Amino acid sequence: MQKEMENDNNLKESRQPGRIVVLGAGESGAGAAVLAKLKGFDTFVSDASTIKEKYKAQMDKYGIAWEEGHHTEALILNAGEVVKSPGVPNDAPLVLKLKALGTPIISEIEFAGRYTDAKMVCITGSNGKTTTTSLIYHIFKSAGLDVGLAGNIGSSLALQVATTHHDYYVIELSSFQLDNMYAFRANIAVLMNITPDHLDRYDYSMQNYVDAKFRITQNQTSEDAFIYWNDDPVIRRELAKYGLKARAYPFAAVKKEGVIAYVEEGEVKFDAPIAFNMEQEELALCGTHNLYNSLAAGISAKVAGIDNAYIRRALSDFKGVEHRLEKVATVGGVQFINDSKATNVNSCWYALQSMTTPTVLILGGKDKGNDYSEIEALVRQKCTALVYLGLHNEKLHQFFDAMGLPVADVRTGMKEAVEAAYRLARKGDTVLLSPCCSSFDLFQNYEDRGDQFKKYVREL
Ligand code: ADP
Repeated sequence: MQKEMENDNNLKESRQPGRIVVLGAGESGAGAAVLAKLKGFDTFVSDASTIKEKYKAQMDKYGIAWEEGHHTEALILNAGEVVKSPGVPNDAPLVLKLKALGTPIISEIEFAGRYTDAKMVCITGSNGKTTTTSLIYHIFKSAGLDVGLAGNIGSSLALQVATTHHDYYVIELSSFQLDNMYAFRANIAVLMNITPDHLDRYDYSMQNYVDAKFRITQNQTSEDAFIYWNDDPVIRRELAKYGLKARAYPFAAVKKEGVIAYVEEGEVKFDAPIAFNMEQEELALCGTHNLYNSLAAGISAKVAGIDNAYIRRALSDFKGVEHRLEKVATVGGVQFINDSKATNVNSCWYALQSMTTPTVLILGGKDKGNDYSEIEALVRQKCTALVYLGLHNEKLHQFFDAMGLPVADVRTGMKEAVEAAYRLARKGDTVLLSPCCSSFDLFQNYEDRGDQFKKYVREL
């Protein structure tokens, strides 16, 4: 015992304020390392898996020391501060050791935020982040603002802060990134919705996940804006707890008390911060969920002072984002839609809700503690057949088989799933890949899953 305490004290004393260790060398970690190095820190990067060549080259270019395949504790526990990639779990043994030593652990966004005075537009939520972030970026860019796109999309905030200058950053923030943010301040914060997701990383506690999402509002002042979906039951219930200081801009599908953006008689309308209107029909993105995304994006642009004409044009000429309700092709009268990014049950709900024809749904993959009852009614209403695609389809059988729909069980891969769906579909139907699950059982990631879907559809 005595010996252990002495060891701990020695380790604490060995911490060097000028040393930054980055855990995980993906886009955000490698970017954070470049920024740390350029700011004069003694920088070291450690990744327990293999680092992609691209990031090794980037770090080598800046003379940054790194290791892969393991963590050398002696080179890590002496850090003055640690930048942790979102992929490294909060309860990884090394992270617990660092916490015990009292070493500050921050996210790449937190770190980068210290070195820029650009205005920060930050988007979070369980669903709709990438679409809304891309749409906001598109509006700002088309209006001629000097804006960078960061977070889960494109190049990391840290790398951009290190190597370029922008007046604005539009940043997609997952709950994992928000977990390690403390002093960072969002000038415009957008919270799309909160539905159960990633609960495996939050001790299966919904409250922990909600707290992570609401961190987007911490440090906001009365100068800032908080834009959120008024009708989300979780947001409504929890809002009061967080003592918000920012100006609130709640939006909803229809006009009601307290809401500043909505649709009325076919027109999208904002009452604040400055009146705005446009025909709903002119919106480039369809479906209720995309109406929310368009409202959130439009309000952000208004808060940033962009003229109505630019906003109208950009909301109507946006091209959409790959793997999100992406129309692939029509084969033999059957339409194929790739919604591979639907990695949770709620996003599949929105996809099914926007279907206008009978639908053959392909779903399955790595289950994150899913509750399928959320889509039960829509499956009954819209689906004519189901294709289960995953290594472990037992839970899907248990839940859906009793509905009596034709079912195909595919454990091999996307080719067989596409062929099975095509066999089950009739002319005029839609085949929808909207899996409710993450993709890591049979695919590298959701992009790989969507790309394979498109490939095999085109080969039909
Ligand atoms: P995220 O980045 O949060 O995962 P995306 O914009 O990539 O969100 O969309 C993922 C999926 O979630 C889409 O395929 C769509 O089916 C669904 N979706 C998009 N926007 C919303 C929204 N506002 N509310 C609910 N579901 C949505």
